[in-house]
Amino acid sequence: MTDRLTVLVIGNGGREHALALALARDPSVAALHCAPGNPGTAAVAVNHSVDALSGAAVAALAVELGADLVVVGPEAPLVAGVADAVRGAGIACFGPSRAAARIEGSKAFAKEVMAAAGVPTADARRCTTTEEAAAALDAFGPPYVIKDDGLAAGKGVLVTTDRDAALAHAAGCDVVVIEQYLDGPEVSLFAVSDGSRVLPMQPAQDFKRAHDDDAGPNTGGMGAYTPLPWAPDGLVEEVLATVLQPTVDELARRGTPFVGLLYAGLALTAAGVRVVEFNARFGDPETQVLLPLLRTPLGVLLHAAARGALGEVGSRLDWADGAAVGVVVASQGYPAAPVTGAVITGTEDVPAGVEVVHAGTARDADGRLVSTGGRVLTVVGTGADLAAAREAAYAGVDVVRLDGAFHRTDIARAAAETQRARPADLLKG
Ligand code: AMP
Repeated sequence: MTDRLTVLVIGNGGREHALALALARDPSVAALHCAPGNPGTAAVAVNHSVDALSGAAVAALAVELGADLVVVGPEAPLVAGVADAVRGAGIACFGPSRAAARIEGSKAFAKEVMAAAGVPTADARRCTTTEEAAAALDAFGPPYVIKDDGLAAGKGVLVTTDRDAALAHAAGCDVVVIEQYLDGPEVSLFAVSDGSRVLPMQPAQDFKRAHDDDAGPNTGGMGAYTPLPWAPDGLVEEVLATVLQPTVDELARRGTPFVGLLYAGLALTAAGVRVVEFNARFGDPETQVLLPLLRTPLGVLLHAAARGALGEVGSRLDWADGAAVGVVVASQGYPAAPVTGAVITGTEDVPAGVEVVHAGTARDADGRLVSTGGRVLTVVGTGADLAAAREAAYAGVDVVRLDGAFHRTDIARAAAETQRARPADLLKG
């Protein structure tokens, strides 16, 4: 039943190229399409132009292609109801409905669901006036955490000790969520859900700040790695039991089941695990490092989830040993004012086994690869451990040429040292 799948991936970023690469490795995937896709996906799939925010356009394309499965990558089409339109056309879709995607689209909704499900998270207040915001800031104290209640592509959150800046940010939003500051390392835990069952992936970590040692502004993510040698034993089981399953159960109870990728951004605080945020889709760049290690065939997995039949793939996902490290190559000026249109060379010259995942790239009229966005590429290395994976990733970064580009040099550095300092028997499992 899951043989010979025709799959359509919606989106054009690094996450979608990583999804396409993993789907192309699944022998059950007979035909692979991307819309709009990018020059990276063009190497493993057929790209089609589409308005990815139009449910009608995406559903029509899926029907025309005879797709068995549509995988919606980014949040904006999900919040716009693209998955609903695809399902309405009778095609299995991996991606939540508009109603379930509100877990990402509205911070206040996410807090309400977490409260109802008993999921541990930061105490928060929803504020609609400056007076309410000021009172909330003083109730929680610094550092202040102020979140725009809506999709803001990671830019709607301000964490600051400056009360005036906090108030100014709040004043610029219609509705804000002001919450308690969560102190502790952050972990990204992805889980595949079919609306009732949940299969967690292994944890990953991303690097949000633009520059080494977590200096500079917040970005969409400058790199990622997996696994996390420092994560406590039993973390995945604990998060499954206290966060993922209760959230999926609560959304099902409300009649808006979550079918897709539930991404829990977690803080490991002294008081225990707390949810920082939920996303309703694969994270970028964590996807680029997780999927190369996933042994469970991705097409079969996502198709089973989309049909409400996750039980078919078993009770756990299968992972390769070893590690993966992804380093983002970003345009000069990112994130404030990225310079685009620069020619990129060397992407074909990376060492064997290193993947160059395209995010902000296009072909110009002469067929040359040029930059079109802030985050241009993620260079992904794999290896027996994090140190080997880092070495591979940075060897790849070294041969890519893009004028003015920059990257962080410390992705997974501390974790690689932690891992090599531990006896080998502790690295298993
Ligand atoms: P969000 O869009 O909710 O993921 O927030 C973006 C980033 O802001 C997170 O990845 C955290 O680094 C930071 N952040 C969000 N909420 C909190 C919090 N309550 N305490 C500390 N940092 C936070």
